[in-house]
Amino acid sequence: MAKFDEFAHPGKCEVCGKETQVVTAAASMGPMSLSYCKDCLNAGAEPYWVILAHVSSAGYWPEDIKPEKQECIRKMLAYLGKTEEEFAKDVADQIEKFGRF
Ligand SMILES: [Zn+2]
Repeated sequence: MAKFDEFAHPGKCEVCGKETQVVTAAASMGPMSLSYCKDCLNAGAEPYWVILAHVSSAGYWPEDIKPEKQECIRKMLAYLGKTEEEFAKDVADQIEKFGRF
């Protein structure tokens, strides 16, 4: 992302919550634009709630998620400091609350 500094403006990163220089970019997991700081953008991270919504609409973690997608999500969870156990529980809660799509 060499263009980061060109497009950056002060704001709040929606992934890590830092008040810093951010850019508005399209999310990789849904039809929306979010603010990302340089670190989160470089890491390809998405906010936890976005990952949660994305996965719970596909099914339970990890059995309903394609292996190549699991890889990418594991990296994001590690970046966000979330454990897979927490995530699996949150996905199950989400499905119980809202049902499967
Ligand atoms: Zn950030």
